[in-house]
Amino acid sequence: MDVHDKLFDAVVVGAGPAGSIAALTLARAGKDVLLLEKHETPRDKICGDALIPDSIALLDSLGLLDQVRAVAHPSAAIRVYSPNGRHMDVRGNYLTLRRLHLDKLLFDAARQSGAAVLHGVAARGFETDENEARVLTKAGPIRARMAILATGGASKMLAKFGVEHRSQPSAVALRAYYRLREDVPEDRLHIWYEKPILPGYGWIFPMGDHLFNVGAGVFYDSGDDHPNLRDLFAQFCSECPVAASMMEGAELVTELKGAPLRSALAGAKASGERLLLAGETIGSTYSFSGEGIGKAMETGRLAGEFAQRALESGGTSAEALASYDVELETRFRDKFRHYEIAQKWLGWEPAINLMTWKANRSERVMSILEDVVTERRNPTEILSLWGMAKTLLLP
Ligand SMILES: Cc1cc2nc3c(=O)[nH]c(=O)nc-3n(C[C@H](O)[C@H](O)[C@H](O)COP(=O)(O)OP(=O)(O)OC[C@H]3O[C@@H](n4cnc5c(N)ncnc54)[C@H](O)[C@@H]3O)c2cc1C
Repeated sequence: MDVHDKLFDAVVVGAGPAGSIAALTLARAGKDVLLLEKHETPRDKICGDALIPDSIALLDSLGLLDQVRAVAHPSAAIRVYSPNGRHMDVRGNYLTLRRLHLDKLLFDAARQSGAAVLHGVAARGFETDENEARVLTKAGPIRARMAILATGGASKMLAKFGVEHRSQPSAVALRAYYRLREDVPEDRLHIWYEKPILPGYGWIFPMGDHLFNVGAGVFYDSGDDHPNLRDLFAQFCSECPVAASMMEGAELVTELKGAPLRSALAGAKASGERLLLAGETIGSTYSFSGEGIGKAMETGRLAGEFAQRALESGGTSAEALASYDVELETRFRDKFRHYEIAQKWLGWEPAINLMTWKANRSERVMSILEDVVTERRNPTEILSLWGMAKTLLLP
């Protein structure tokens, strides 16, 4: 098939979690959809590789969880270190799976659902007229009735598609894979918000077979004082005592590489003429935790569902598709705002120390934290003035 010779119902640009799930949703609805990816697949993505409950629930609802679980590494808790180095264990069911494998699995699921796929071809621009949308590539335009942009945290395509509000990312983070000593336990995820690296954060996540994803990041949104990321990573590995002891004798397996994150459901217009956006293009990654795979997939599914309805009703104009922006606001704004507030609390170290102290003494407070991670509650039920006062009074 020459993709330049036909008119697709939709073309999805970018085959990360958002794009693959958007394409899968459209294909399952019987639409003629093309999933376009600039890298050859499988392609790696710089990430912490952690799947928290929102990702797991979404994969389950799409019937993909068993496949993911079969190859992922399970963890029973997240150990969170506060500024004074104390920690708490937030129990739950978490998975880690290299993005190399997760994204390939989602890409294949879209293809098996009937999406046409084209990899190794980059979009370079976007045009529309009264009849069609055209995604421009080196080999010529790809024509469709509409497009979904899901090109992730780098902002270049936002400007080319005419939807950019902000080019600067919300955060940057880097990671490498290490083989750690055999006595380093592989039963939990570790995240540090410890003094030597604040306002940055660090993590060590087990991947199985003594392989670990080790990384550090810093939110630009959290203030003006940004450390150099590689220095931050070195500080994390040497000055946070538990991380330093886990990293003793560590063998570097892959290069240390960084990538931007776009958070807080901001930074781009989510729709336009014959166009919807999904995933990190619209800032679908959470502030505070930097978790983004789950909401990338959720917004990918939502964009797919909106595209399906638009194609069926003929409502692909910018005015008609603006209802997608409204739905994003209604469904997600409150949640993202709570994560932004929680991130600001990272600047107030005594509060985080106090909360850790309390969580270790109160089963009620610990269960609130578990509810936050599973999205049954918002983080501000703990990280806000009112939340703090309330939880300190709990038995
Ligand atoms: C260091 C780091 C650690 C992180 N850790 C976690 C974590 O542990 N858990 C978590 O949930 N989230 C984590 N995140 C966030 C997570 O990686 C993102 O939220 C998620 O990848 C967003 O998915 P997406 O589909 O929107 O974009 P992406 O996964 O970035 O996918 C976008 C795709 O578009 C393709 N593309 C780009 N430009 C073009 C073009 N011009 N033409 C065609 N294709 C194009 C790209 O090649 C890519 O495949 C982390 C991020 C970073 C940087």
